[in-house]
Amino acid sequence: MIAESLKTLWEELALFNAKLVPVSKTKPNEDLLEAYKAGNRIFGENKVQELVAKAEALPKDIEWHFIGHLQRNKVKYIAPFVSLIHAVDSLKLLKEINKQAAKNSRIIPCLLQVHIAQEEAKFGFNASELKKIINDPELTALHHIKIIGLMGMATNTTNQAQIKEEFKGLKLIFDKLKQSTLPTNIEMAELSMGMSGDYKLALAEGSTMVRVGSSIFGLRSCALNA
Ligand SMILES: *Cc1c(COP(=O)(O)O)cnc(C)c1O
Repeated sequence: MIAESLKTLWEELALFNAKLVPVSKTKPNEDLLEAYKAGNRIFGENKVQELVAKAEALPKDIEWHFIGHLQRNKVKYIAPFVSLIHAVDSLKLLKEINKQAAKNSRIIPCLLQVHIAQEEAKFGFNASELKKIINDPELTALHHIKIIGLMGMATNTTNQAQIKEEFKGLKLIFDKLKQSTLPTNIEMAELSMGMSGDYKLALAEGSTMVRVGSSIFGLRSCALNA
C-alpha cells in the first residue's frame, strides 16, 4: 500500500517537477521503514519529540522536515540534523533557529509560512508582514539560516475554487519576491503547498513541494490529527 502510493505520487509529481514530502506524523516506525525501503528518503513531522525519536531509531540518510508550528524552546532538539523547517512564522523564531544552527556549525534551510486561509487559527505572515520581515536588517544579519521559499496551507474546505484562489495568491507573492532583489540569505526556490486533499490543485498552481500524509500512510486517528 505505502510503496504503491509513493510510486503513484512520484510519477504524478515528476510531471510538475515537484518534490514529495511524505508526512509520517503519528505513524509507527514500521510504516516509515516501509516507505524507506520503497526508496523514500524524506519525512515530514510536526512534533519535535516524535521527530527526534524517529530520527534516532531510523536510518541516518533520511532528510527530516519539520512541518508544524515550531516552539522556540524546542528548536535546539532538531537543530543538529533537521533538513528543512517549513513553517517559520516570526523573526524571533528565525533568530532562535539561527542561534542553534550556529552552535551546530550549520546553515538551516527554512520556509516562511504565509497565511492564505480564511480560518483565523492558521499561523503565518500576511503579504505586508512578509515584505517587512524580508527586508528587515535583523533577518539579513542571520548567517546560519537560509530562507529558501514559502509555505502555505489553504482553508480546510470542499470549495475547490476557493482553495485554488488561495494557492494562486501565494504563487503570485512567491513570483513577485522571486523577481525582486533579495538579501543573500533569502532565495525563492521552493513553494511548499498542497496536502492529501488539495495537492493536485496546488501542483496546478505552481507548488514545488507537496506535504502528503494520509494518501500514503492512511488516515490518522482524530485525536492525533493535529
Ligand atoms: C498533517 C499535515 C500535512 C499532511 O496532511 P494530509 O492531509 O494527511 O496529507 C501537511 N502539512 C502539514 C503542515 C500538516 O500538519
